[in-house]
Amino acid sequence: PAASSPAPHVAVVAFPFSSHAAVLLAFARALAAAAAPAGATISFLSTASSIAQLRRAAGGAGGMPGNLRFVEVPDGAPPPAAERAAVPVPRQMELFMAAAEAGGVEAGLEAARAAAGGVRVSCVVGDAFVWPAAEAAAAAGAPWVPVWTAASCALLAHLRTDALRADVGDQAVSRADELLVSHPGLASYRVRDLPDGVVSGDFNYVISRLVHRMGQVLPRAAAAAVALNTFPGLDPPDVTAALAELLPNCLPLGPYHLLLPKDTTAAAAAAPAADDPHGCLAWLDRHPARSVVYVSFGTVASPRPDELRELAAGLESSGAPFLWSLREDSWPLLPPGFLDRASAAGSGGLVVPWAPQVAVLRHAAVGAFVTHAGWGSVMEGVASGVPMACRPFFGDQRMNARSVAHVWGFGAAFEGATMTRAGVATAVGEMLRGEEGVRMRARARDLQAAVAAAFAPGGACRRNFDKFVEIVCRA
Ligand code: UDP
Repeated sequence: PAASSPAPHVAVVAFPFSSHAAVLLAFARALAAAAAPAGATISFLSTASSIAQLRRAAGGAGGMPGNLRFVEVPDGAPPPAAERAAVPVPRQMELFMAAAEAGGVEAGLEAARAAAGGVRVSCVVGDAFVWPAAEAAAAAGAPWVPVWTAASCALLAHLRTDALRADVGDQAVSRADELLVSHPGLASYRVRDLPDGVVSGDFNYVISRLVHRMGQVLPRAAAAAVALNTFPGLDPPDVTAALAELLPNCLPLGPYHLLLPKDTTAAAAAAPAADDPHGCLAWLDRHPARSVVYVSFGTVASPRPDELRELAAGLESSGAPFLWSLREDSWPLLPPGFLDRASAAGSGGLVVPWAPQVAVLRHAAVGAFVTHAGWGSVMEGVASGVPMACRPFFGDQRMNARSVAHVWGFGAAFEGATMTRAGVATAVGEMLRGEEGVRMRARARDLQAAVAAAFAPGGACRRNFDKFVEIVCRA
């Protein structure tokens, strides 16, 4: 750039709910580090409560790059603030999206400009969910570069929602097992695997409306680039081709958690326990390689009480040591004596309210993963070469589970999409000790090697991220 051109000022717009905001912050941190040599400033836009939560999770702002600044956008919630926490999350999402559509993102861009001493935002990167950022970027004369956080096939389903609805109509139930052979890229999926709100479920639910609108806006507004949370070699060629048809500028550069430069600060080295307050990694250290099953259903999903008890009984009868990340409000629902038996056996099981999942999945002792198949979890599992048993709950999780079991084959889905005692014991035994488990692990290891190659210096995801950084900095 000419000496007189201003340094890049990139706004990163988060969707301030569930695991989305944390994923975008990780992305923004990686971007801040990579764009620092270009003198770029990164303004991370989220709501006040989301920013507070992210700061808490990061243990203060200490670990944040110096060129990254938090900027608040309106949450759309009416005062008084004290009552906001009582607003149900779907309603909070509606309020946020309504505010975003009514100028909330523009207000955030203006606040970012003011906080940066008047330097205008030159590029708007953001979670694709927050599609009103497209218009706000256009109004600011900046390109919009969306970041898709979930699976490519789910994005394809959202881009093709109108065509899918025209095809399936009101027959989503009667045609549930039909393969979507007439929809490019979706031939491996059944009608029942489509994300909620595409052809079934409540079309008026906030997320259904949001992803539908996003699917319409993206092909028009995402001209510069779209970041995909996948790596070359994961998506089958028909999915890649069908996406490229609609979004020619996709850059696969995931799993996003691998973009962050390794934290080599003294603070990080001195305080490993801060990330693992419940001692999961030390507990894993006491177990042989590939002997432990790790269980987690992410940040939102929770099994019904009866299913939770079946899972608990299945883990016990599998005989395998288990590490279970389970929110504390569910602990009273566990079978009588379960927690005592787990801890009394010494090595039997460990139940914790939160686990350092990425490090857990990387640990040599972990040989199997019982998961809700949230995309973050699937990618973290793949990057670690761990086979998984999927119990999808909502959103895109059924589609991810279908991919795991039928497209990639490094895992299985629970029969009838529910966990029974026998089903859990069989799945865990198979993954840890069975022949199918050996095949699953081999497939998982192949993909793990593909991830490693893509993130090695000069690898495809590194190059795509460099390209991404160049696009957003030169805007
Ligand atoms: N996670 C974690 N510890 C836990 C449970 C979850 O670190 O005990 C993280 C996990 O590593 C993943 C995210 O939370 O990055 C969950 O994201 P995912 O997309 O799998 O599911 P969601 O929470 O969005 O349903």
